[in-house]
Order: sequence, then C-alpha cells, then structure tokens
Amino acid sequence: MTDTVFDVLNQPPALEDYNLFTTDHALMQATELNGADWAKDRLTVYGSRLGDAETIEQGRLAHKNPPQLKLFDRFGHRLDEVEFHPAWHSIMALIIGEGLHSAPWAEPKPGAHVARAAAYIMHAQIEPGSQCPTTMTYGSVPAIRKDKHLAETWLPKIYSRQYDGSNRPVTQKTGALIGMGMTEKQGGSDVRSNTTVAKPVGAGGPGEEYIINGHKWFFSCPQNDAHLVLAQSPHGLSCFFVPRWLPDGTKNAVQVQRLKDKVGNKSNASSEVEFHNAHGWLLGEEGRGVPTIIEMGTYTRLDCALGSTGLLRGAVAQALHHVAHRRAFQRHLIDQPLMTNVVADLAIESEAATALALRLARAFDRAEDDPVEAAFRRLCTPAVKYWICKRAPNAVVEAMEVHGGNGYVDEGPLGMLYKEIPLNSIWEGSGNVMCLDVLRAMQKSPDGLEAYFADLIPARGNDKRLDAAINDLKTEFADLSEIEHRARRVVEKMMVTLQGALLVRHSSAAVADAFCASRLGGDWGHAFGTLPKGVDTRAIADRALPV
Ligand SMILES: Cc1cc2nc3c(=O)[nH]c(=O)nc-3n(C[C@H](O)[C@H](O)[C@H](O)COP(=O)(O)OP(=O)(O)OC[C@H]3O[C@@H](n4cnc5c(N)ncnc54)[C@H](O)[C@@H]3O)c2cc1C
Repeated sequence: MTDTVFDVLNQPPALEDYNLFTTDHALMQATELNGADWAKDRLTVYGSRLGDAETIEQGRLAHKNPPQLKLFDRFGHRLDEVEFHPAWHSIMALIIGEGLHSAPWAEPKPGAHVARAAAYIMHAQIEPGSQCPTTMTYGSVPAIRKDKHLAETWLPKIYSRQYDGSNRPVTQKTGALIGMGMTEKQGGSDVRSNTTVAKPVGAGGPGEEYIINGHKWFFSCPQNDAHLVLAQSPHGLSCFFVPRWLPDGTKNAVQVQRLKDKVGNKSNASSEVEFHNAHGWLLGEEGRGVPTIIEMGTYTRLDCALGSTGLLRGAVAQALHHVAHRRAFQRHLIDQPLMTNVVADLAIESEAATALALRLARAFDRAEDDPVEAAFRRLCTPAVKYWICKRAPNAVVEAMEVHGGNGYVDEGPLGMLYKEIPLNSIWEGSGNVMCLDVLRAMQKSPDGLEAYFADLIPARGNDKRLDAAINDLKTEFADLSEIEHRARRVVEKMMVTLQGALLVRHSSAAVADAFCASRLGGDWGHAFGTLPKGVDTRAIADRALPV
C-alpha cells in the first residue's frame, strides 16, 4: 500500500547530467564572437564532463572535506604538508588535464585565451576552489619565461597536463603548479610596506640566489611547487622565485604556520607562512618586484572576472532550473509574472557579465600584436574585475532566494556559490584598489580611453538610451575634479555602458532592450526583479534556461 502523505512532491530534480556549454547561449555566442569558435567541440566535451553527476559530486565532496595541515610527522620532523580529500585531486586532475593552467602558453593560437576563459567560466560553476592554483600557475608564466634558466627547468612541467599532487622536487614530478606571496600582516594592497627581506648570497642580480627571511599573511596553495614572493632586497622591493624543494633535493625553509579558516573557498588551502633562511632566485631586476608580479596580477585579475562570471551563471542556471520545475499557487514559478521578472533580471546580469568577460579575454589574445587591444587590456582589466565581481554577489543572493528554503541549505550548490562569490572582489586587488588602478591607467596614457570608446562606437545609433549613456560618459571625463572620490561611479558607468554596447550589438532584442531600459535608462528599482513594463521577461528567461 502506498502512503501518499509521505510521497516527495513538487521538488525539482537536481540539475545534473547536462552540458554547461551547449545550454549556455550567451557563453557559446561570446566564445564565437571573440575568436574561439574553433574550440567549440572541446568546450562541448568539457561542458558535458563538468555537468556530469559524478563530477558535481566530486566538487561537492572537495568542498565538504577541507584540506588539513600536517605540520609534523609523528616523530617531530617538519612536514609542512597539506592533506586533501581524494575528490580534490580528481578535480585538480580534471582542470589541469584541460590545460586551464597553461594551454594558451603551451599551445598558443588566436583565441587561445578566450577558449580557456570559456572553460574557466564553466569550471567555476562546479568547483571554484581548484581555480586558485590553476590561475596562479597561468599568471606566473609570463614572468618565469623571462628567466632562461628557470624557464628551461620549469616550463615543461608547468605546461604538462598531468596533474601531480605529490610532494617531491620538481625534477621528479610530471607537472608543476605555482603560487604567489605578496600580502603581509601590515598590508596587502600596499605591498610596498612588505618587511620580508632578501639578502644576496653572492653579488646578486637577475637569476641570482638570495636568502629570504620574513612572513606572508596570505599564501594560498602552500602545496604548490614554487611561489613568486615579494621581499625587500638591497635595491628595493623585488620578486623572487621560491621553490618548495631546493636543487640539492632538500626542502626549502618555507614554514607553514596555519591554514586560514575561510568563509568559503573551502576546498582550497590558503595559509600563513614564515621564511626562515629560505632560498629564492631573483626574477627580473632588483627593485622592480612590483612590475614583475603585477604582470602575473593582470592574468589573475582576468580570472577573478571570469570566476565571478561563472559563479553568477551557475547560480542563475540553478535558479532558472528551479523555477521551471517548482510550482506554487497552481502554476510553475517561471510562469508567475513577478518571478519571471526576477529570473529575467538575473539572466540579463549573467549574460552581460559573460559578454564583458570574454571581450576582455579577447584583449589578452590580441594585446601582443595590437596596441589598441593592449591599451584596452590595461585600462579595462581592473575595471571589468571590479564591476563583475561587485555585481555578482547580489545576484547570487537573489538566485538563492529564488530557491526558497532549499537555497539556504548547504546540501545544495547555492551555499557553495554564495560563500565563494565575495572572494573574487577581495583578492587580487580589492574594489577600491581596482578603481584607483583604472584612474592610474587613464592618467598614464590616453590610449586606454580611446581603445575603450572604440568599442562603443559600432553600437551607436541602435538605442537612444545607450547613445545617451555614451554622451554622459564623455561629460564625466571632461570634468576630472574629485576623480578619486568618484572612481567607483566612473568605472561603473564605463562598464555598464560597455555591457550595453556589447548586448545591443550581439544579444537578442529582448535582452538588449531590457538591459538598456534598466541599467542605462534608469527604469529600474533597487533590487533584482524590477524590470519595467513592456520587457519580454519570458523570452529572456527562456534564452538562459539550462536546457
Ligand atoms: C582566501 C584568500 C586567499 C588569498 N591568497 C593570497 C595569496 O596566495 N597570496 C597573496 O599575496 N595574497 C593572498 N590573499 C590576500 C589578498 O590579496 C589581500 O587580502 C588583498 O589584496 C587585500 O589586502 P589586505 O587584506 O591587506 O587589505 P588592505 O590592503 O588593508 O585593504 C583593506 C581595504 O582598503 C581598501 N583600500 C586599500 N587602499 C585604498 C586606497 N588607497 N583608497 C581607498 N581604499 C583603499 C581595499 O580596497 C580594501 O577594501 C588572499 C586573500 C584571501 C581572502
């Protein structure tokens, strides 16, 4: 006899065994528009792999079982090891196997950074913690390439797609991962306040060995095979390559103090370390540590924007899936006009982030050969990072609420996305620091703004609200008084206008119209779900549904 009072009714199925690429029209379109159409087959395979129930379960397990620090063995010898759940290693094997740590360097071709960016956006939706070591490795390559000796030993291991999580000298490993250590207790944004010191063993100079003493307050992935570390040397703040193991086969004196107890980003290990006569090799010129490591930061900032784009898409896809299945008051939630307004508003935000993030990734592909793209990249990397990372947390919270009580229960994916989402805005340059960096780029050269406006021009004449926003921006830049005070406003206007231009040119009429009406025309409230009358919310929601 069945007892219907105990039947589980009206609960949506889990969103799994789906393809994160082919169900994301905005991502597919942006990939094609930005020069990586050739990667579609590969991205389709990766999208399917990520959406597989088994991969999703591995991601969940990696988050539910955070890494543990193993400082000593049972006899008291230092180990400085981090123990991970097997699910972490399987997710790492997946992301490294896909080449997200190195493919654009190892196999350069037009669109390589865009193809990687699309895969990165998808990966963020399933297991964002593994993106920390992946991103830092990707970002480290331009700096390491400049040192012939380091490049010979390390690049083949960095380019390898064979993940090797063992704790051994790099020569004995099938692959290597890199991290960075800048932030100290007294200052992260202001790295010039670093107190860690480096003394040359001999005469000193590029490629030479130094002895390092001091600490880092944030030092993610202490298990990585080497870190780029900032320290004060006789000629100023400099960047050092600090391997975990020394060339003579002994352990370098990088002592882990403890792992951070983080709000989210649970699967990833972030630590505090001390250097006790650790050995490091100077990368670049002495006293030029900031420019050396900032080059790495340019790539990691791109990844922050991509990561938040992915987390946002992940939350919006879950929300859309939920409302398409869940019924309340005799109708599916997606058919309740107020809910359609909410999910459509979220879908617009997600598509605008995707269009903007991949446009930026295109500049990374072209910067070397095209000065306009190089100028665009310099100005817009901090601006895009600021804007996408700033917008995404509110949207993820709204997507959580769409799920009702289920959204707030940590068994589902929303909890992980919610706890992860503030992080991209904080690390690699927090919001204010990004906006001030945009001003710095503007002040250094007018080329950035010219490159930025060049992207708006083709969209002119299609939408009155967009045209007005472009004109408004020009007056904003005509008056530079109190520009530091106004930095967030200026960057916000720049980014929202660029998003409008991209959507007007390339998205569906419904999405472009709703974006221009709300974000540019001001016909909008202060929360999501306040799109004005006349917007085709159902068409927007249907376009973004992960089916
Ligand atoms: C999980 C996690 C992992 C991390 N991993 C690493 C790592 O591996 N390596 C590493 O080097 N760092 C790492 N960090 C550190 C991170 O990059 C820093 O926390 C960040 O750069 C901010 O530095 P801070 O914490 O010292 O804050 P502060 O520099 O003190 O900044 C505090 C606030 O002041 C604002 N601010 C700063 N200057 C100005 C100004 N001139 N005008 C207006 N506002 C300003 C900032 O925007 C920020 O909001 C990690 C952080 C986290 C949370």
